Amino acid sequence: MSGKVFFFEPIFKEKIWGGGRLKDFGYDIPSDMVGECWGISSHPNGQSVVKNGEYMGKTLGELWEGHRELFGGIIGEKFPILVKIIDANDDLSVQVHPGDEYAEEYENGELGKTECWYILDCQRDAELIYGIKANYREELNEMIDKGQWDSLLQTISIKKGDFLYVPSGTVHALKAGTLILEIQQNSDTTYRLYDYNRRDEQGNLRELHIQKSKDVIEVPFINRQPIPEIVNVDGMTKTKFIESQYFTVEKYEVNGQVNIVNGHPFMLMSVIEGEGLLFIDGEVYPITKGDHFMLSAQANKFSLNGSISIIVSYL
Ligand code: ZN
Repeated sequence: MSGKVFFFEPIFKEKIWGGGRLKDFGYDIPSDMVGECWGISSHPNGQSVVKNGEYMGKTLGELWEGHRELFGGIIGEKFPILVKIIDANDDLSVQVHPGDEYAEEYENGELGKTECWYILDCQRDAELIYGIKANYREELNEMIDKGQWDSLLQTISIKKGDFLYVPSGTVHALKAGTLILEIQQNSDTTYRLYDYNRRDEQGNLRELHIQKSKDVIEVPFINRQPIPEIVNVDGMTKTKFIESQYFTVEKYEVNGQVNIVNGHPFMLMSVIEGEGLLFIDGEVYPITKGDHFMLSAQANKFSLNGSISIIVSYL
């Protein structure tokens, strides 16, 4: 039955803005400068490796290439979604991602990057940068050229449990103390617009991508924040945060037992709180905070049991 459930080894990325909080997910992180845990990825910069069953040791990319039946036979050159946890121990640079067309043309066939964030934790009165205040492109370019960042960048308040949709073209930045789960298109293309003029220990500024940022920033900013839909079923509260062309993202808050019918090519699951059990075809898998796993197209029915919160993403 191991063609139904795939648990993945987490992949850690050290960053100058990273910290040590990913330990809270039970991870054995290599240092206190870990910024990202790639939980489910088939990107060349970090391939998730299966850690259970008959496909143990294979990467998600290899499954996608060689076993498309596990994904219901859907077409596509690249596995579409990447799931990460991000620990921002310092302010991240202000950035923007291209859409599919621009990335295809200027980034060697990369996908664009539309992403979304579930706020796992943050400080009281926390904020992040989300959107811009320029009304038209000339104004945007002028504010960038003159470094009028306070006038240009829009700041919003956040709290634990918030969800934010960040379409490509949206200027954004996480601030220090924020811990998020990010679900994004399978892409690693970021344009750095502003880095607070910070210098590293050698006195160097990090590279900026001003022209590419200007090319891809959507102006004026349009807030496409979706309204969550909450349904209560036996044993679970399900919150659908977004349904978009790139991904659908939900939160399952299981309390007791819930039986689920899966009609999707795959379901990606990231356990963010608690512990419990996954039942499928007479097999039982313990699941706990920090686990990332995929249910394949062949996992038609399964049950979850326990007191556990899971962020679920699928096409
Ligand atoms: Zn981003």
